[in-house]
Amino acid sequence: MDFLPIFFDLKGQSCLVVGGGDVALRKADLLVRSGARLRVVSPELCPDLNALIKENDGEYHRAVYSADYLDGVALVIAATDNVDVNISVSEDAKQKKLPVNVVDNPALSTFIVPAVIDRSPIVIAVSSGGQSPVLARLLRGKIESVIPASYGRLGELVGGFRDQVKARFKTINERRGFWEKVLQGPVAEMVFSGKDDKAEALLNEALASADPHEYQAGEVYLVGGGPGDPDLLTFKALRLMQQADVVVYDRLVSAGVLDLCRRDADRIYVGKARKNHALPQEEINLLLVKLAKEGKRVLRLKGGDPFIFGRGGEEIDQLMAEGVPFQVVPGITSASGCAAYAGIPLTHRDFAQSVRFVTGHLRDHTCDLPWRELVHTQQTLVIYMGLISLPLISQGLIENGMSPDMPIALVEKGTQPEQRVITGTLATISQLAEQAELKPPTLIIVGEVVSLRDKFDWYGADH
Ligand code: SAH
Repeated sequence: MDFLPIFFDLKGQSCLVVGGGDVALRKADLLVRSGARLRVVSPELCPDLNALIKENDGEYHRAVYSADYLDGVALVIAATDNVDVNISVSEDAKQKKLPVNVVDNPALSTFIVPAVIDRSPIVIAVSSGGQSPVLARLLRGKIESVIPASYGRLGELVGGFRDQVKARFKTINERRGFWEKVLQGPVAEMVFSGKDDKAEALLNEALASADPHEYQAGEVYLVGGGPGDPDLLTFKALRLMQQADVVVYDRLVSAGVLDLCRRDADRIYVGKARKNHALPQEEINLLLVKLAKEGKRVLRLKGGDPFIFGRGGEEIDQLMAEGVPFQVVPGITSASGCAAYAGIPLTHRDFAQSVRFVTGHLRDHTCDLPWRELVHTQQTLVIYMGLISLPLISQGLIENGMSPDMPIALVEKGTQPEQRVITGTLATISQLAEQAELKPPTLIIVGEVVSLRDKFDWYGADH
């Protein structure tokens, strides 16, 4: 983050705007909306700004800027098209340690004004750190369209209940549990549909009948984080990621996905870091139980889908044995993600009527795969964890009757910006993989469908 977003209380405080045109007007309007008292300095003034100052009892000085106007103000915005004036405002304000913004000039500013979505008391600020105000504005447009105006009324309603809820629930966990239920349930729905009285009655009822113990128990969310591209998360995954208190994740979870977890959640890494050993599975199971029993909402975040080569079954087995509540959220498994982003349909009426997911993690590096079942016409094989054993796998398939010319693809870091795809045949692939120095995570796809990639490659291809 290049800037720290904070919200400034300016009620009743004088703020200086230097400039009298449309840009100054927009900034002055924001200041007025947050309760600030306007002081505007400019030799000229557009009619709307004049009206805004009058309506809000502001000061207007028909003058050229000088440092005297900074006396007694809490914050300064320079919105002139005169570079020298902007520089003077910036320098004078910095000398007086006053926060200063020069419009469209982050270098002269000590703060920047974000694009604002105002659903007071809910306020959302969007900033591109001065890199692209237009992008920030476009994003604001998107957010505006998905956040109903009634969020403001919901904020006001629950704000009125804060003290009562504090008195009723002793711990933060209980209060948070209560509010999460209220804000995602019928009370919120009533406000959104304009029935504020009904919402208030329901909230009173919920408060009277609430059992604080209900909110003490922890829970585990076993969530599939998909193959890497954060856009492939499900809505449910995202919602639980945003409310978990602690995140237990491993190596396959991409940085972009992890970034979407609640900011202040604790993060515990249990994967392998190069030569270091991963936390053994039994210890992960016990860790989940321990955290949940402390009353935490634990996000067990896994790459791909938790029930496909993800040991999800072992983890929930332990949770069930210990009576810990849990939910399982499927994710896009790497077979689906890598195939889609590599332009390889896993089934196709002309080439494959079935698809088989296999682990290539061979015990003791011996070939104990059920080769006979794997060598079939019209079948696509997807091999997880097979990179290290690739030479053994291609050899095994050939020895058991698959054509050495069978197309095969290796997808490294599928669905992520660094994705690489290497294609070849069973006979050539080991050497190609070695030359390309592929690293895990890499997925192997074997079958006639691989040849379709020549035509269907869309991701990362220049069109
Ligand atoms: N539960 C996961 C699989 C875990 S096993 C899922 O559903 O996808 C780990 C193997 O998954 C890796 O060895 C690799 O073969 C594959 N894999 C996972 N993410 C991948 C990615 N982004 N790109 C390529 N392969 C991936």
